[in-house]
Amino acid sequence: MFVVIGAGIAGLAASIALAEAGPVVVLERRGEDAANAGAGIQIAPNAVKALSVLGALEDVARVATAPEALVVRAPEQAAPLVRLPYGPAIVARYGAPYYTLSRAALHGALLAAALRRGVVVRHDHAARHVHQTDTGCTVAGAEMDAALVVAADGVNSSTRRALVGDAPRDTGWIAWRGTGDTAGGTTELVMGSGHHLVRYALSDEDANYVLVAPQKSRGPAGIARTPTGRLIADVAQWTPWPIAVRPRHVFAAGRVAFIGDAAHAMVPFLAQGAAMALEDAAILKLAVAALGPTPAALARYADARRPRTRRIAAMSEQQGSVYHLPFPLDRVRNATMRTLGPRAILRRVDPVYAWSVPEDGIA
Ligand SMILES: Cc1cc2nc3c(=O)[nH]c(=O)nc-3n(C[C@H](O)[C@H](O)[C@H](O)COP(=O)(O)OP(=O)(O)OC[C@H]3O[C@@H](n4cnc5c(N)ncnc54)[C@H](O)[C@@H]3O)c2cc1C
Repeated sequence: MFVVIGAGIAGLAASIALAEAGPVVVLERRGEDAANAGAGIQIAPNAVKALSVLGALEDVARVATAPEALVVRAPEQAAPLVRLPYGPAIVARYGAPYYTLSRAALHGALLAAALRRGVVVRHDHAARHVHQTDTGCTVAGAEMDAALVVAADGVNSSTRRALVGDAPRDTGWIAWRGTGDTAGGTTELVMGSGHHLVRYALSDEDANYVLVAPQKSRGPAGIARTPTGRLIADVAQWTPWPIAVRPRHVFAAGRVAFIGDAAHAMVPFLAQGAAMALEDAAILKLAVAALGPTPAALARYADARRPRTRRIAAMSEQQGSVYHLPFPLDRVRNATMRTLGPRAILRRVDPVYAWSVPEDGIA
């Protein structure tokens, strides 16, 4: 028996990963209808390959959109700085498509895949204390014994606080989320001075807008008066989303695995946080298949994941520094991007998107 704490993207993916090895119960403190309405998510090719290992790709592909291109803009210029071809070009390069969709749709697809495998999801059930012995764990709030527990309780993980003792760090950035018009089959990245905007399709009608600005700035109201303003005029309402991170990446404590933001919350500037959770789940599946539901399997999982998530977190931080350059350095960046062109820019993300499960498993 496995207990998973949290039914976010990481928890549902972990439940799918473990269902082949034994019965899985997921405890989720929120109610059934709590999936982030209106919010979107980008699922990069590496995450698509992880979904395939989990056996949940068809569920997600059915409700996702595949953008034709990523268009990168400077707000004061009408012509794009660069247009990166997505669609078939990205499948040819990385062996998988790039998807965008609503978080509610992703959540629904993962939940359907989990339930089909017999996973039991208990909403309105907060997990409390986890007690470990040499042979298993008990979770207060679940009143059940488990061979392994997976803590997928997000960046503010109380399981991590109890077992590891550290806390998340506030970054001083706020992401503002809103809904507006679609960008005609493309995803757009707009780099303003000290802020950036990403816009992509949730469905045929609506797009998700994510505006990222420093916490001390005036947010969307202030940015509306900059050249970015004309690009966000159709968004009626913004919801703030403070960005916190877990600089120390922790994957296991005895019989408890950490996964997703509970293990390694990172800044979202490469759109890779959930992708890392899906990769974690795929590797956890292989580790438990190879070594059984044991602390040794979790140690193997931790060793396999740590270098990868550290690298992606560092790249995400660097990406943020590039996106948020102030005037006049932003003009130098824009000119450099034009000169480099799509091929050289895509090459930079090769290590991110080219990931796939090693052919020999994780031996
Ligand atoms: C602005 C922004 C944009 C992003 N865009 C992307 C993107 O495009 N692509 C991408 O890959 N990533 C993206 N990310 C990152 C991504 O959102 C996260 O990495 C991902 O959602 C983390 O999922 P999780 O399941 O680990 O955590 P969460 O989504 O936080 O889920 C944790 C769950 O655990 C539950 N829980 C907590 N405590 C308990 C308890 N004690 N008992 C029971 N349940 C509990 C919570 O209710 C919650 O449902 C973005 C992040 C931000 C901030």
